[in-house]
Amino acid sequence: MGRVPRERFVPEELAASAYEDRALAIDCGQTISQPYIVALMTQALQLRGTERVLEIGAGSGYQTAVLAELAGEVVAIERHEELASQAVARLAELGYRNVLLQVGDGSQGCLEYAPYGGILVAAAASAVPDDLLAQLAPAGTLVIPVGDRDGQSLLAVRKENGRVVTTTLSGCRFVPLIGDFEPE
Ligand code: SAH
Repeated sequence: MGRVPRERFVPEELAASAYEDRALAIDCGQTISQPYIVALMTQALQLRGTERVLEIGAGSGYQTAVLAELAGEVVAIERHEELASQAVARLAELGYRNVLLQVGDGSQGCLEYAPYGGILVAAAASAVPDDLLAQLAPAGTLVIPVGDRDGQSLLAVRKENGRVVTTTLSGCRFVPLIGDFEPE
């Protein structure tokens, strides 16, 4: 995280707040996640540096950059075209070449590049989507906020020897996941 300039991922007028440990507003009514939460989610993936990771809800692209530092490659999906194109431009300027960022609905994952050594969802779902679990490699971890606008839990769901083990990492508050899995 020390290598990723967070000020490059926030609106210019918020650059002075980029190193405060809180979420900040970005375009399209969305938020760049709080750095502590980015760290907690990234740590929970237990990356070794070679895996392919799926990120759903790329937003500003900040979390994408953190993942690109620590994983082999990152497939990232963002439903807002404007946010996606800003994120693609920033990540290219900063020299990240192991990122494939696409516009679309990631609520059912991205079968094309599955399986993933880790999946990180940055928007809250009402339940753990089965499609995402199915796209997780053996021993992979899915990190996802589950709940509604009033209360959410950040879950780490790990596949271990064919079993699914769920751990609650923290309470949290994310914008909602919107898509086929979660109709608006
Ligand atoms: N990690 C990002 C978080 C952005 S907020 C950052 O720190 O900048 C969550 C993002 O998820 C929003 O940009 C929202 O548009 C996006 N999102 C919500 N539902 C989605 C879906 N079904 N597919 C892809 N992106 C989605």
